[in-house]
Amino acid sequence: PVPPLLEKTSQSARLFEEAAQCIPGGITANIKHFDPYPLFMESASGARMRDVDGNEYIDYNLCYGALMLGHGHPGVRRAVAEQWETMGSFVFGAPHALEAEMARKLIDLYPGIELIRFTNSGLEATMLAVRLARGWTEKRKIAKFEGHYHGGYDPMLINVQSRNRKRGERPRPVVDSRGVLDEYQDQTVVLPFNDWEASLEILEEEKNDLAGVILEPVQGGFIPPDPVFLRSLREWTNKQEIPLIFDEVKTGFRLGLSGAQGRYGITPDLTTLGKVLGGGFPVGAVGGRRAILETASPVHRGDVLSGNENQTHSRDVLFHSGTYNGHPTVLAAGLATISHLEYEGVFAKVEEATRLLRNGMEEILARWGCSGSTLGDGTIFNVMLSEQPVQNGTKRDAAYPCLRRELDIHLLERGIYIKPMNRFSLSTAHTPDVVAETLDRFEEGVKRLTGK
Ligand code: PMP
Repeated sequence: PVPPLLEKTSQSARLFEEAAQCIPGGITANIKHFDPYPLFMESASGARMRDVDGNEYIDYNLCYGALMLGHGHPGVRRAVAEQWETMGSFVFGAPHALEAEMARKLIDLYPGIELIRFTNSGLEATMLAVRLARGWTEKRKIAKFEGHYHGGYDPMLINVQSRNRKRGERPRPVVDSRGVLDEYQDQTVVLPFNDWEASLEILEEEKNDLAGVILEPVQGGFIPPDPVFLRSLREWTNKQEIPLIFDEVKTGFRLGLSGAQGRYGITPDLTTLGKVLGGGFPVGAVGGRRAILETASPVHRGDVLSGNENQTHSRDVLFHSGTYNGHPTVLAAGLATISHLEYEGVFAKVEEATRLLRNGMEEILARWGCSGSTLGDGTIFNVMLSEQPVQNGTKRDAAYPCLRRELDIHLLERGIYIKPMNRFSLSTAHTPDVVAETLDRFEEGVKRLTGK
């Protein structure tokens, strides 16, 4: 019999208690908390992670999807070590050849990217994308979709009150966090995902003020877009000349090497990337149409070389800076990751493993009389213990019932790590035998859930 979680994670409990004395909530990102306490990890390799009590897990969180090659891939380790060796330093704070090398690679892969800038996180990338959209259009408001996550900064910490909303009623933006000014409710327009008719009505009302529309092309990485919805949104934003921003921090290099835009054949005006792009190191990037990105260039707008040092701070130029932007370690790790993914058949194998896992899980759920299915596209999916089809965040909440919470604990006890997001991302390390082992553990968990 598998011992319950509390019994076998006492060292995590101790570390959590210690951490909580000097870090609010004991965690460095609110999302990392789960009940009764988050597990502290010590080491990892490939698809597996080991916690401080020596329990081993097959990792399906993969640092929120970032580790597309699993933990500690030798090619990435080598690239980073060689980079440090060659540089004799970790970072110069001056331009480095890898910046243009990575830029070129991304321009080749992503149809919507003509020029690109690097940041240190996905959050910074969406923040810059929003500034670019505002700078380009000289308009004020940004439209986002209900339940879509773009990093936790003020104008994106606006959501809607889904509950108690009457059918057909316009979602009312509300502040999602303490410390965020109510004013943002007036700058951020919130739209219902996958509902074109309702979105259009709001967009038409707001269009004169709209600087851009941002969305996760696949919500949370697993709720796919309705094709008609996505196409209509692209056509409308094109017609209105309002920049469409694809936040591909999650879908980039996970829905294929060209992200959601490659997969669905829809080209946005601006694209944000992150996660996989950094090969396990902090990163973000904003790419897009040449004309929009050029607003951030100080060179074309005057006499930088004539000694006017304030040039880059002038109101004409869109400000973007960052001590660690284009960090050579990050770029070396990212380039090594992308070149591995580009080998013939590598990406397809991860997609095949994902299909195998999803099909297996669905068979198991059916075998044990559990109504449920899996939802996703590419290399990320979620298990939905719900009979209702899921189309957007509102319904997703309804599809995470107590039953699912219970199943997740059974899975964790059996060494399947999907915390804290409770969804499954795969990597090149998730080979068919790892999938088979996962399915055995999943079946045990489902059996326990159904009391059999
Ligand atoms: N956008 C999306 C779609 C994301 O999934 C995330 C991170 N989960 C972010 C932005 C923010 O990225 P970061 O955590 O690197 O700031």
